[in-house]
Amino acid sequence: MKEYDVIIVGGGPGGLTAGMYSARAELNTICLEKLMPGGQIANTELVEDYPGFESIAGHELAKKFENHAIKFGLNIEYDNVQKIKLDGRYRIIEADNDTYKAKAIIVGTGGQPRLLGVPGEKEYTGKGVSYCAICDGAFFKDRVIAVAGGGDAAVEEGIFLTKFGSKVYIIHRRDQLRAQKVIQKRAFDNPKIEFIWDSVVEKVNGSDTIESIDIKNVKTGGIKNLPVGALFPFIGFTPNSDIFDFEVTKDEGGYIITNEYNQTNVEGIYAIGDVRKQLCKQITNAVGDGTTAAVAADKYIEAWND
Ligand code: NAP
Repeated sequence: MKEYDVIIVGGGPGGLTAGMYSARAELNTICLEKLMPGGQIANTELVEDYPGFESIAGHELAKKFENHAIKFGLNIEYDNVQKIKLDGRYRIIEADNDTYKAKAIIVGTGGQPRLLGVPGEKEYTGKGVSYCAICDGAFFKDRVIAVAGGGDAAVEEGIFLTKFGSKVYIIHRRDQLRAQKVIQKRAFDNPKIEFIWDSVVEKVNGSDTIESIDIKNVKTGGIKNLPVGALFPFIGFTPNSDIFDFEVTKDEGGYIITNEYNQTNVEGIYAIGDVRKQLCKQITNAVGDGTTAAVAADKYIEAWND
């Protein structure tokens, strides 16, 4: 079993920041990442709200985070974490390739896009239904594209998809967007975007690929068929918080609740970024969380060693 001071689960901006601080504090630190460091920003076209970078490609910012952490001694290992367990004062991680032991664990596992849960959604995923505009948008050049949702992700990705689509419908269940005003304005000013208010997607239809969606007006109950070549649901997020073999306090949405040290209800287990309950899910929040958790873990380990 490999033993460390600190293990970080997840190599997003929060995890890489925690790794940078922890390795720089000379704690024996590893970050376990299942796919590719960078988290969601690795799949974000442009980041315009990370201070110091007016506009930077997501994958470029992700690479900078990674290189910076590695420079200060962070080891990144590719492994898929299945369970976190307790063994006395030690915290144990069971992953696909190995078992790991640490004094403290920082969980930055992010989450998954929330599904609409309507007929045809799963069947047409990869055949016109996609949850990543940057990955799949270019497949729908000159097609009519539908986006579901009204938050920052739906509106920002809707704007991005106008690069490819002949038209982009943004279908929102209310008549007011949740997205930030500055993002809303950009969408309202974009001639390719048409909003469909008070409506939800009811069904995805097609043959080999998606051909249309049925949408329901939640005020009138009326159902309308909308011919589209793609559907991008951006209706929120489900945190990846189901990896504990013991009781960790979460809210009703599955977000982990922490204190001001980013510690969960269990000593030596910290949660950072999108998996944790907090007001915003911004890169800046994840970075702040990573910093706090790494510093808190350092102090905890100092006391642990006494
Ligand atoms: P979000 O802010 O939770 O918005 C989800 C949207 O989907 C809401 O408009 C919600 O409607 C709608 N919705 C939820 N469940 C639905 C359902 N079953 N059917 C239809 N519509 C449904 O999620 P997000 O847009 O993914 O953003 C997540 C976080 O990431 C936010 O904190 C956001 O600020 C952040 N983010 C930031 C940026 C940026 O700043 N550049 C970009 C992307 C994301 P209601 O409004 O009616 O609840």
